[in-house]
Amino acid sequence: MATLFTKILNREIPADIVYEDEHVFAFRDIDPKAPVHILIVPRHEIGGLADLPESGDHQHILNAAKLIAEREGLENGYRVVINQGPDAGQSVNHLHAHLLGGRKLAWPPG
Ligand code: AMP
Repeated sequence: MATLFTKILNREIPADIVYEDEHVFAFRDIDPKAPVHILIVPRHEIGGLADLPESGDHQHILNAAKLIAEREGLENGYRVVINQGPDAGQSVNHLHAHLLGGRKLAWPPG
């Protein structure tokens, strides 16, 4: 069965999609934790970072993060986060990176 994020990619569930290429797509998080909070998702579903193959679409997440951050005007900085598994609070089992920016981000995260 398609994941929630694949349904967003297929326009079965509405979302504010801000970027798409042959490898990944990206849309604004429905519950933003910063002025800019965008999820970057590989088209090809894998459950999470723990399932990452040696090569493939998934490797393009960081390239897209850099590009989207430039487009969003995050010249002052930003953070890219991948939550893997229950201890990190992963809630959607389709690999995704959070791009967060537009405010000062505390370190370390909670
Ligand atoms: P994670 O907890 O790392 O698995 O991140 C999942 C993220 O998906 C959360 O930040 C949610 O707010 C976000 N999310 C869940 N449903 C939607 C949706 N329909 N559209 C956009 N973002 C969503």
